[in-house]
Amino acid sequence: MADNASQSCRTCLAAIDSDGDELMLSSSGGAFSVLARRIFDLDGVVYGHAFDDGLHVGCVRAENLDGLSAMRGSKYVQSDMGDAIASVGCDLRAGREVLFSGTPCQVDGLLAFLGGPQDGLLTVDIVCHGVPSQAFFVDCMGEEFSDRLLSLRFRDKREGWGCGGGATILHAGIEKNVPFSPKISYYYRRFLAGDVYRESCYRCPYAGGERPGDFTIGDFWGIDVGGSGLDARRGISVVIANTAKAETLIPYIKSETSWAERPLEEAVCGNDQLMHPSPRPESRDVVFERWKEEGIGVLEDEYRRSTLLSSKKWLAKRAVKRFLKGVFGR
Ligand SMILES: Cc1cc2nc3c(=O)[nH]c(=O)nc-3n(C[C@H](O)[C@H](O)[C@H](O)COP(=O)(O)OP(=O)(O)OC[C@H]3O[C@@H](n4cnc5c(N)ncnc54)[C@H](O)[C@@H]3O)c2cc1C
Ligand code: SF4
Repeated sequence: MADNASQSCRTCLAAIDSDGDELMLSSSGGAFSVLARRIFDLDGVVYGHAFDDGLHVGCVRAENLDGLSAMRGSKYVQSDMGDAIASVGCDLRAGREVLFSGTPCQVDGLLAFLGGPQDGLLTVDIVCHGVPSQAFFVDCMGEEFSDRLLSLRFRDKREGWGCGGGATILHAGIEKNVPFSPKISYYYRRFLAGDVYRESCYRCPYAGGERPGDFTIGDFWGIDVGGSGLDARRGISVVIANTAKAETLIPYIKSETSWAERPLEEAVCGNDQLMHPSPRPESRDVVFERWKEEGIGVLEDEYRRSTLLSSKKWLAKRAVKRFLKGVFGR
């Protein structure tokens, strides 16, 4: 674990990336991109998580902003660390500045491997409520999209700041964008219901004030929008400086964002994962037993049938909203 400053003296920022294009592609307020830009300015490298081979999510390395784009956006599935930890070690030994971002357990794993915090290494842990395995994800996506899926976004700001995304599929030989939302996706619904995470996530030791990263970043869900004076429509990041190293970067973050200093309690109150691990619902056993015995197709079918009416209503409402937005531009 990082040598955390006491909770009361940590700077807690609500921040929105001043680069509007990057902000639109980020899940929250773009804090990750802001920190990455700083490291690239120092000729450093950035590690983050991306779809690296079809539906496989893994830890990847970027030397510049082009490489960063695949890392942007939350992928709600366990990411494969591959040989990233050893690669970070090589970069540090070569004298490169390194930013490593990931779930708190990944950051802690990296620090354990390196023997603790290192000069030249900046770590960013994301607020995390748990991850399903890649096996469950791939099985669900295979059922939902068969082999038509070209790309997937769990969060898409064109749908507003929230848990709605989109997919690009191949339909009759033509690329088509379709919504990807808990309203219509069994996988996304189960992810938000929290009953398909890995067992260890329900006992997560990082879901509290003791954080492994120099920074903790997440969605500032609980923000008092009026009090902060910030525009929440395109997302706001919570940025918590856990260490002295992180505190030195606060002036830089302020220079690159619209920001407001907020009480840490405000961030914690709006975000259960800064207080305790996700509770383990009893339905987890049922889902996993049925997945094993009956297969994902049966569960998906059941979900589709039970949500047929509500999903049709939601799709119709969404179409009207998008039509009006097209006509009135808002
Ligand atoms: C599995 C998961 C659960 C989350 N749960 C919460 C939550 O409960 N509350 C909350 O406030 N925020 C949560 N977040 C964080 C939030 O969704 C944003 O990822 C975070 O605020 C960064 O957004 P951004 O706008 O700064 O940048 P973005 O550009 O959107 O950055 C995405 C960042 O997330 C990392 N990332 C993406 N997918 C993964 C993955 N599978 N494993 C590890 N790292 C990944 C990228 O490397 C990058 O650092 C979660 C994210 C993930 C991936
Ligand atoms: S909930 Fe905890 S254990 Fe699970 S992925 Fe997130 S940080 Fe790791």
